[in-house]
Amino acid sequence: MKPKVAIFEFGCCEGCQLQIVNLEERLLDLLEVVDVVTWREARSEHQDGPYDIAFVEGSITREDEIGRLKEIREDSRILVALGACAHLGGVNCLKNFMDQDEVRRYVYGDKAEWFPSIPARPLGAVVKVDYVIPGCPIDKEEFLGVVKQLLLGKEPRLPNYPVCVECKKAGNVCVFEKGLFCLGPITRAGCGARCPSFGARCIGCRGTVDDPNTEAHREVMKEYGLRPEDILNKYRLFWGYLEVAR
Ligand code: SF4
Ligand code: SF4
Ligand code: SF4
Repeated sequence: MKPKVAIFEFGCCEGCQLQIVNLEERLLDLLEVVDVVTWREARSEHQDGPYDIAFVEGSITREDEIGRLKEIREDSRILVALGACAHLGGVNCLKNFMDQDEVRRYVYGDKAEWFPSIPARPLGAVVKVDYVIPGCPIDKEEFLGVVKQLLLGKEPRLPNYPVCVECKKAGNVCVFEKGLFCLGPITRAGCGARCPSFGARCIGCRGTVDDPNTEAHREVMKEYGLRPEDILNKYRLFWGYLEVAR
C-alpha cells in the first residue's frame, strides 16, 4: 500500500500547489511511491481520509474554514503547512491592520455581505502543524526533499540561520549598500538568498529564524533612515501575524 497523500487549500493564490505541478516528470516519479488521493487543483476525484500526509496551503480567513481545517487535522497523521500563507498567515494578514468591512467592500463591492470573513491567520493558530515548507511560493526542490524525508520516517528540518549567510556565500553585494532595506538578517535561509542574488531585497517570505534579533535589525534599519512605522510595514508584508510585526 502506498502512503495516502492529500493536498488542500484555504485562502491563497494556489501558487504553491502550482510549484508541485511544475515538478513535471518528477511528479510522475513521486506518484510511483505515493497515492495522491485528493488534490482539487490537479485531479477531479476526491477520497475521504484518513490520510498519511496532508499538505495544506493558504491561510484561514473565514469562520467555516476553522471546522474544515480541524476535520483535515483529525483525518491526517501528518499535517504540513505549504507556503507562507499557511505557515505565517502571509500577505493575507495585511488586511488585519485595516477596517474589515472596508476591505470586504473593496474586494466584493455591493456583494460584500455575501462574503463574511474573519481576520486572517496561519494554520498553526487553529490546529497543530507538524512541519512547514516555507516560502512564497514554496521551492519545489525543498518540497521534494520534505516528502522524501517523511517517506523515510525522518524529521524534515529547516535551516535555522539567516538568509545573510547564504547571501555572503553567494558573494552578493549587500543591497543595504544600494539603499534597499533587506529582511535577510532575520529571515530563515533555505532559498539560496534568491532575491539578493538578483539585486532585490529579501522581503521575509520564509519567516524568521527561531530567535530573531529584531532589536539589532531594527537599529540597522533606523540607521539607514527608516522610521519605526516604516519598519513595521516591512515586517507586516509576511509577518503580520507574528509578534515582531505588532
Ligand atoms: S504562499 Fe504565496 S504563492 Fe503560496 S499560496 Fe500564498 S500567496 Fe500564493
Ligand atoms: S543583501 Fe540582505 S541578505 Fe544579503 S547580506 Fe545584505 S542584508 Fe543580508
Ligand atoms: S530572499 Fe527572502 S524573500 Fe526572497 S525567496 Fe528568500 S526568503 Fe523569500
